[in-house]
Amino acid sequence: MGKITGFLEFDRKVESYAPVEERVKNYHEFTLPLKEPELKEQGARCMDCGIPFCHSGCPLGNLIPDFNDAVYRGKWDKAAKILHSTNNFPEFTGRLCPAPCEEACVLGINEDPVTIENIEKNIVETAFKKGWIVAEPPATRTGKKVAVVGSGPAGLAAAQQLNRAGHLVTVFERDEKPGGLLRYGIPDFKMEKNVIDRRLKVLEEEGIVFKCGIHVGKDITGPELQDEFDAIVLSGGATVRRNLPIEGSDLNGVVQAMDFLPQNNRRVDGVKEFENEIMATGKDVIVIGGGDTGSDCIGTSIRHGAKSVSNFEIMPMGTVERPEGQPWPFWPMRLKTSTSHKEGAERFFSISTKKFLGDGNGNLKGLITSEVEWIREPGKAMVLKEVEGTEKEWKCELALLALGFTGSEMTVAEQLGVEADARTNIKASEQDYMTNVPGVFAAGDQRRGQSLIVWAISEGRQAAHHVDTYLMGESALPLKGEGDLPRV
Ligand SMILES: Cc1cc2nc3c(=O)[nH]c(=O)nc-3n(C[C@H](O)[C@H](O)[C@H](O)COP(=O)(O)OP(=O)(O)OC[C@H]3O[C@@H](n4cnc5c(N)ncnc54)[C@H](O)[C@@H]3O)c2cc1C
Ligand code: SF4
Repeated sequence: MGKITGFLEFDRKVESYAPVEERVKNYHEFTLPLKEPELKEQGARCMDCGIPFCHSGCPLGNLIPDFNDAVYRGKWDKAAKILHSTNNFPEFTGRLCPAPCEEACVLGINEDPVTIENIEKNIVETAFKKGWIVAEPPATRTGKKVAVVGSGPAGLAAAQQLNRAGHLVTVFERDEKPGGLLRYGIPDFKMEKNVIDRRLKVLEEEGIVFKCGIHVGKDITGPELQDEFDAIVLSGGATVRRNLPIEGSDLNGVVQAMDFLPQNNRRVDGVKEFENEIMATGKDVIVIGGGDTGSDCIGTSIRHGAKSVSNFEIMPMGTVERPEGQPWPFWPMRLKTSTSHKEGAERFFSISTKKFLGDGNGNLKGLITSEVEWIREPGKAMVLKEVEGTEKEWKCELALLALGFTGSEMTVAEQLGVEADARTNIKASEQDYMTNVPGVFAAGDQRRGQSLIVWAISEGRQAAHHVDTYLMGESALPLKGEGDLPRV
C-alpha cells in the first residue's frame, strides 16, 4: 500500500499551527493544512507491512492502508468512500482522535508512524469541499420506529446507521442543539461547531428527526418512549462529574470544568447572558486534572485573558518515550502535551490539592497542596502517599475541577427497569448491545463509561446493527471493520 519505497524517501510531516500569540485572540481552529503533494507523500509512507496492526488499533477498524494508498494515488473520491464505509464522522475523529492507530502502526516500531489521523481529516475535508458528501436517504422504509436518547457521537452514529437501514429515527436531546460533548464540551478552537452543523444538515436531509430541548425522563418518560417506538437506544453519555470534597470546595470560584466549558461554547455561539457568568479574565487560574478536559480549560482560560494558568496532575509526569511494560502495538501512557499546554500554562505533577482558602466573603483566594508519591508494593494496587513537609499555598481566584466523570445519570434507565453496574454504566454486552429490557439498547459513554469519540461512533454503529437485527431478524449494516473497497 502507498509507495513501496515511500517510507524510506519521506519523513513524517503533520499540519502546523498558527503562532500562539495570534491564535489565543479568538476561538477559531488554528491548524495550517499540508498541501496536496505533501499529503500524497504522507500517504505514500504507508508500507506494504503485511499485517496492518493499525486496523486493530482503531476502534472503528478503519481500512487505513487502503485509504492511504488512494490518497497517494490522488484518488480522493475513492479514499472518501473507503473512509466513510467504516466511520460516519471522520471530520470529528480526524480532528480530535488521540489516534491509537498511529501507536499501532508497523512503521512506528523504529520510525515515526504514518500520519493517519491527519490524512483522515484531509480526505473528509476534500470530500465536503468537492460536494461529495450528500444525503443518502434509504430507498425504502421499514415502518419501524427507533428513539435515540442523546445526540453525542454515539447517538448520531446509531441514528445514521438505523436510518440507512430504513427505520424512522427520532433523536431526543435535552440541550438546545445536537452534538453532545462535541458541541458543549470540546472548545471551538479544537473543533468549530459548523463542522457539526454541516453534518447534521445531511442527517436531517436523510430523514432523521431531531427533537432538542427534550429531557427524556422528565419531559417524556422512558415507558412513554417504549409505547411510541419499536426500539430505544440509550446514548446519554457519562455525565456525572467527579467532585473534590475537601474543605472550601463550596467557595465562589471553585467551579466544575463542565460548567465552565459549556458556558463558554454557548458564549462563542452567540449567547450573551448567563445567570452565573464564569470568566477567567485577570485571574490566577488553577486547573485541577491533567486530561483532555483540563487541557481544554487551559486553552479557554488563556483566551479569556487569565493572569496565570497552572495545571495540577496527581499522577507522576509520564515519559515522552513509550514506557517499559507498554510495548508496541498497545496504547502507551506517554506524557501528552496538547496545543493548549503550549499556550502558556505551567504544569505540575504528583501534586494533590488539600484545601481551598476563602477571602472571608465566600470567595476563593487560594489553595493548599502537597506533593505525593505513588508506592507500588508487589501484588498490590499503587498507593498514594503524601510527602511530608511539602505543603504549599497558591494564589488562585478560579479553580477549575477537571476530574472526569463517575458514571451516567440513571433516571431513564430506572424508569425502564434497565440494569447498570456499580459505576452506573448501563449493562449491555458487546454481543448485542441490548440491556436486560428487550428492545432497549445502550451505546457510547453511557455503556462503556467515560471514553473517546472514536469509541462512541464505533459503539453507535455496533448497536445499530443489533437494533436492526432485533427489529428485522437480520441486518446488512456493517459491523466493526466491515468496510467497502470500491473499485473507483
Ligand atoms: C471537555 C472534554 C473534552 C474532550 N475531548 C476529547 C477529545 O479531544 N477526543 C476524544 O476522542 N474525546 C474527547 N472527550 C470525550 C468524548 O467527548 C466523549 O467520549 C464522547 O463525546 C462520548 O459520546 P457519547 O455520544 O457517548 O456521549 P455525549 O457526547 O456525552 O452525548 C450525550 C448526550 O446525551 C444527552 N442526554 C443525556 N441524558 C439525556 C436525557 N435524559 N434526555 C435527552 N438527552 C440526554 C446529553 O445532553 C448529551 O448531549 C472529551 C470530553 C470532554 C468532557
Ligand atoms: S478514527 Fe482514530 S484510531 Fe481510527 S484511524 Fe482515525 S485517527 Fe486512527
